[in-house]
Amino acid sequence: MIKITDINLYTGEELIRDAALLISGTDIVYAGKKENLPHEGENLFLGGENLLLGGEDYKITRSIKGGGALCLPGLVNAHTHGAMVFLRGVASDRTLSDWLEKVVPIEEKFTRSMIYDGTMLAIAQMIATGTTAFADMYYHMDAVIDSVLETGIRANITRGSSSEEGVDSHKGWFADWDGAGEGRLRVFVGLHAEYTSDEKTVAYAVETAGKLSTGIHLHISESLFEVEGCIGRRGCSPVEYFKKYGIFNNHTLAAHCVHLSDNDIAILGEAGVYAAHCPVSNMKLANGIAPLRKMEAAGVNIALGTDGASSNNSLDMFREMKAASLLQKGSLGDPKAMDAEKTIKAATLTGAKALGFDKTGLLKKGYRADLILIDPDSLNMFPGVDPAADAVYSAQGSDVTLNMVNGKILYEKGEYKTLDIEKVKAQALQTAKELNIV
Ligand SMILES: [Zn+2]
Repeated sequence: MIKITDINLYTGEELIRDAALLISGTDIVYAGKKENLPHEGENLFLGGENLLLGGEDYKITRSIKGGGALCLPGLVNAHTHGAMVFLRGVASDRTLSDWLEKVVPIEEKFTRSMIYDGTMLAIAQMIATGTTAFADMYYHMDAVIDSVLETGIRANITRGSSSEEGVDSHKGWFADWDGAGEGRLRVFVGLHAEYTSDEKTVAYAVETAGKLSTGIHLHISESLFEVEGCIGRRGCSPVEYFKKYGIFNNHTLAAHCVHLSDNDIAILGEAGVYAAHCPVSNMKLANGIAPLRKMEAAGVNIALGTDGASSNNSLDMFREMKAASLLQKGSLGDPKAMDAEKTIKAATLTGAKALGFDKTGLLKKGYRADLILIDPDSLNMFPGVDPAADAVYSAQGSDVTLNMVNGKILYEKGEYKTLDIEKVKAQALQTAKELNIV
């Protein structure tokens, strides 16, 4: 059992100063004031069982003093393409269609081992900057599964399918890996987008997700070009098109949702869709600003994602939180449009639900221990007046001193516990050379 004390705990619902946590296995068994921390011999009252602290299974094996660190639920990156780290810096300052023209021919050269190397590099950056879970849509997903299981991070994986064969590949991954790694891995069905798949593929993705009782992850209405193209091709918007095929009858994780009509918003809201808002990627590709306030009012669940490193260029969710909040405030002239608490919720609890993880995203008894500590001595966090606001507006990924997923420490004070960072960097460099990127 791990004990963490001397922290300011933001549970996702409230701030508890001078707090403490007790973690047993994958779960939080105590989260509250340090003064109320159970003492040895006291009952932990978990699940109706008689669990005595200090008893056989409930000995404290590690005690961490936070030194006043801010403790937050781990950040959830609800939409990315991990191995695109190789394309970081390639094709900047282009529109989405020009960018795809440059990026896709390089992606086509990626082998399974390259995807593994790239995903390891992406996970290394995510772990060090406070991400505890991510939704990855790419290909050679068996390589992504390997890297997720090996590093201890939590992930939802899908292939960016554009054919029935692509959709089919999810069946084996789902059967073999959904729920693997003590529940760290979820498998949804991935569909790349309206403009990359025909009607039969869309219908097959819906049928497959229904049979597997799992969710669907897809790109929707990222650019005006896409929406106008869809109207030209099909006589309706991408949202209306996907509704026709029953996509939203499944749990849906929809990336981007930038160009939406009021009818689109009503459809997504009524279906309780999870939108993965990717503000930095949307701005970098000059795609526009998602109408979050309207979407939220209609019942759409807002999560946050970085998108791939090629269109971001970072996988640091602190940057994403700040951009998401400022973009809504500035464009709507409303300082409350996306306040700090709402932004943290999008990057934690809603993200975890979007990826299909229960009991994850809050730091409360009975929830999975996915959490991060932020250095209180970091100059950009000083003097630490309002921890929730500091997390969104002041913090940066490099302030993270500890990353824990499912009760296991993956990163602590600059040290990776589950990967060899020099090896990961060397292999990534080798791959980048093979691809003639560097
Ligand atoms: Zn994407």
